[in-house]
Amino acid sequence: MPSGGQNLAKLDGQRFGRLVVLRLEKRENGKAYWLCKCDCGREVIKTTQLLRRKNKPVRSCGCLRKEVTSKTFSKHGFSRMAIDKVKATFYRKWKNMKSRCENHSNEDYRHYGGRGITIEWDSFEEFHKDIWDTFIVHVDEFSLKQTTLDRVDCNGNYSKGNCRWATWSTQVENRTLSKERRVAIAKKGWETRRLKVKD
Ligand SMILES: [Zn+2]
Repeated sequence: MPSGGQNLAKLDGQRFGRLVVLRLEKRENGKAYWLCKCDCGREVIKTTQLLRRKNKPVRSCGCLRKEVTSKTFSKHGFSRMAIDKVKATFYRKWKNMKSRCENHSNEDYRHYGGRGITIEWDSFEEFHKDIWDTFIVHVDEFSLKQTTLDRVDCNGNYSKGNCRWATWSTQVENRTLSKERRVAIAKKGWETRRLKVKD
């Protein structure tokens, strides 16, 4: 969407899922920030882009995602302690990825950021929204230790389209596949089992 169009948008009073736009809070760097009130009572500020994008637009202050997450957890029967551990591990995946790509003193930086590999998720929230649910499913099936963030095209960036959860052995096998094969697997989405992606 062209940024000019975003700037002109008047969202006052509009509803986006649980969020109702109260007023324009500020404009900064070509972005419009809207004060929104969530049905749960919390007020949050969201940009036009977050509210209007086609791919998973923001639809609550975050309470919606929390509900979805707790449903996913109960579906998989994780205990309270396990939940905390899974959450912490997921966050560490984000931090480690950031470090490999952006921290020059990371010992692996030269294989990632140093080769121009970037992260296309703007924030942990985005990362979480895109791949948290599939993370839980993978952990449930293969364990926490066997759940790694794998880039399908190893010269490609960290993005939803180029990543999937995979076990260590799947990661290693993946390196021996042709680029075309890897892209074909990625198109199958986030199903990580090799058996499922035979085509
Ligand atoms: Zn809310």
